Amino acid sequence: MKGAKYIFVTGGVVSSLGKGIASASIGVLLQKRGLKVNIQKMDPYINVDPGTMNPFQHGEVFVLDDGAETDLDLGHYERFTGQSLSRDNNVTAGQVYLSVINRERKGDYLGATVQVIPHITNEIKSRIRKLARRDETVDVVITEFGGTVGDIESLPFLEAARQIALEEGPGNTLFVHLTLVPYIETAGEIKTKPTQHSVRDLREIGIQPQVLLCRTSKPLSDAIREKIGLFCSIPAKNVIESIDVDTIYEVPLLYHEQGLDNYIVDYLGLDAPDPDLSEWEEIVRKIKRPDKHIRIGICGKYVHLKDAYKSIIESFIHAGAENNVKVDLVWIASEDIKLNGAEQYLKGIDGLLIPGGFGERGVEGKIESIHYVREHNIPFFGICLGMQCAVIEFARNVAGLADAHSYEFYRDLKHPVIHLMADQHEVTEMGGTMRLGAFPCILDENSKSYEAYQERTISERHRHRYEFYNYYRDQLTSRGLKLSGLSPDGKLVEIVEIPSHRWFVGVQFHPELKSRLGNAHPLFREFVRAASEYHDNPNQPELNLETEPVVKPELLDELNLRQ
Ligand code: GLN
Repeated sequence: MKGAKYIFVTGGVVSSLGKGIASASIGVLLQKRGLKVNIQKMDPYINVDPGTMNPFQHGEVFVLDDGAETDLDLGHYERFTGQSLSRDNNVTAGQVYLSVINRERKGDYLGATVQVIPHITNEIKSRIRKLARRDETVDVVITEFGGTVGDIESLPFLEAARQIALEEGPGNTLFVHLTLVPYIETAGEIKTKPTQHSVRDLREIGIQPQVLLCRTSKPLSDAIREKIGLFCSIPAKNVIESIDVDTIYEVPLLYHEQGLDNYIVDYLGLDAPDPDLSEWEEIVRKIKRPDKHIRIGICGKYVHLKDAYKSIIESFIHAGAENNVKVDLVWIASEDIKLNGAEQYLKGIDGLLIPGGFGERGVEGKIESIHYVREHNIPFFGICLGMQCAVIEFARNVAGLADAHSYEFYRDLKHPVIHLMADQHEVTEMGGTMRLGAFPCILDENSKSYEAYQERTISERHRHRYEFYNYYRDQLTSRGLKLSGLSPDGKLVEIVEIPSHRWFVGVQFHPELKSRLGNAHPLFREFVRAASEYHDNPNQPELNLETEPVVKPELLDELNLRQ
């Protein structure tokens, strides 16, 4: 059996340098050389998963097919490599300690003193090697360590990596270190000292990196590369410049130009031909040189913290590239809409997206903005809470259920059109207890969704506790709301649409988690297309002759309204 090779990605100086993007970029370059790659993130915090963490602190929670709630870097891995990952691809210190402590309680350690070395480090090593053991066809396992070198909590992880390097022997593991090389404006100079210190910290714990990725705002001269290389014991050609770029998807191309993937395969003794990056280059070209710009409003609670909407932002880049447009996102704090009305914020946008969310803050503003785009026939896309708000808006303003709302926010409602899912009533614990992960959904063939997917059965990822309350199905559909996607047993409403509207789709799931570069999510692609058409021709209402009348004649009879 051939053994897999291991690449470890560490970070130094400061966080937020883009280690996830760096790891994903290395991953895709190796993949384009025909290698089978698996990428993993090790997070040194004690939370068992980021599912219970505030998005203000940690950005969005990225949900996988198997329902794992993971770090947002897994989103980069999937978007770059096109692979769908599993819960083994995100390990936290919390998970590691939890399993060691559980084993200790069971008495598995036979009276031994349980310690960070070797028990915690062994658990970390086995979770790294598991990716290679689980699938013997994997050529390279890339493990990215969260945090920066020098953090107390990172130490056991780096120690585990050091041990793997020792055990696997020379040429089988490679360390890549990402650092900041700052430009000091007042001195007009690039400074290498922070990088030297950070590599020294790594060497102190027994790790000598082979490659340095230097984040910088200015190009690195040969002299600077020589200097960094000399101080850090790294050949100057392996001091790779990672300069600020227009789009993150350029990063693999920059690395490749500097010979990074060539060096990696040589060093690890992998027989892999040069990659064909022409398709990737073509998409990057489209992202950088779009035919036109359109404006899409995003109305949400965390608009000041873009990491909370990372996957949505990326989905618009993918969908924009496929439509040859650049989507300029207009961030609208839902609370502002409540204070000042929708018109001034939404005038001039070509589409509105309401993302997922939790908690009542800003919900009325979201509902008001949906009211505006529904009545003005402006393309609308609602995701999770966004879909729930669309149902509430429709119930209130079309079906006349004035106090319609979600049971999530008020318990004594006359019309809780969004209600707790049946299996959520008894749940009291927070971590990992929502409806999580991929579930199938059956589409109505006569719908915008089907037009987008061109498939009857789709599978999408979920993260929610509340749902469309079935009691209201007839009342809302008779007023023109279409339930165009249902769970296979027909019990759960997954997609709502308004067929008489230009493009109005709300989904209970999170399509943004499955959009990839070169394979945009069908609903994002079609939403952007609709917004782009609206941009060109805002006054031309779409003629949809197959649409049922907004109010069914039977209902008019029932209400005694027929003339
Ligand atoms: N808060 C809503 C629910 O739990 C929506 C969740 C979401 O948008 N992810 O159902």
